[in-house]
Amino acid sequence: MLARDVLNISRMNKLESLKKLILGPGSKEDIFLAPHSDDICFSLSHLAKIRGAGTLLTIFPISQYSTDQTFGNPIDIEQITRKRLSEDTAFTALCGLTPGYLNFHDSSARAELPFDARYAYKLADKIQVDLIRALMRPRIAQASKPKYWLFCPSAIGSHVDHAAVLLTIVRNLHLLRMHYRVAFYEDLHYASNPIFRAIGLNILEKLLRGYKLEYFCMKLNNEAQKSKMQAVNLYASQLTPKISSIKSYTPTNPDFVLPHEALWLFQDEKLHALG
Ligand SMILES: [Zn+2]
Repeated sequence: MLARDVLNISRMNKLESLKKLILGPGSKEDIFLAPHSDDICFSLSHLAKIRGAGTLLTIFPISQYSTDQTFGNPIDIEQITRKRLSEDTAFTALCGLTPGYLNFHDSSARAELPFDARYAYKLADKIQVDLIRALMRPRIAQASKPKYWLFCPSAIGSHVDHAAVLLTIVRNLHLLRMHYRVAFYEDLHYASNPIFRAIGLNILEKLLRGYKLEYFCMKLNNEAQKSKMQAVNLYASQLTPKISSIKSYTPTNPDFVLPHEALWLFQDEKLHALG
């Protein structure tokens, strides 16, 4: 091995250690917030698996959407929802997460257009009380220190359900940050599309005007890529050939072309973690 390679590996190891220091160890009090059943798997399964603890809280688990044609016609909401919950069970078992659910219908079960984020404000009004109660209940019972992680969608892709969750978090950010370390994940597979990603990040930046955010990239080596695709394949009811490779589960950030998952962290949060 060349001295340069040794140096590069040493730098990479240092960087990885630094990243572990920033996020800290996984905790059963961490919350992975998922608008739909597959969102944490597609967007953050590598992170979830290495942290190995926390609650996967799904906001809109009741669904009529499946790419699996075996469900036939007319499509049965109960049957599809059951199938999607069973996919969650396998994924949470794989990652050591505890599944949790709110009781809302997703856009398909509401018979609404999924990619029309104009309705997100109304939808945010509808989910706000239950979502904030679910996030605050465990915190009120305990002292607020140490703060645990709350991983939220960035709503890249403009799915109305993702946008409603993001709006709810942003509206209650001051309260939530008193009790949680809040991070926004890039929604995959949507963030693998450069146009969706640019539009989504632009909106996120506007919603969080006044805050400084930093990109936090978690690279996936060959083994991690294989492991991620195994997790993705647990959600068979949602897959199509178009989204069957690791490329669909990598944000299109021109500075980080290798497969990775991504978070946006508040800069003050990062500095605090590093002391
Ligand atoms: Zn989703």
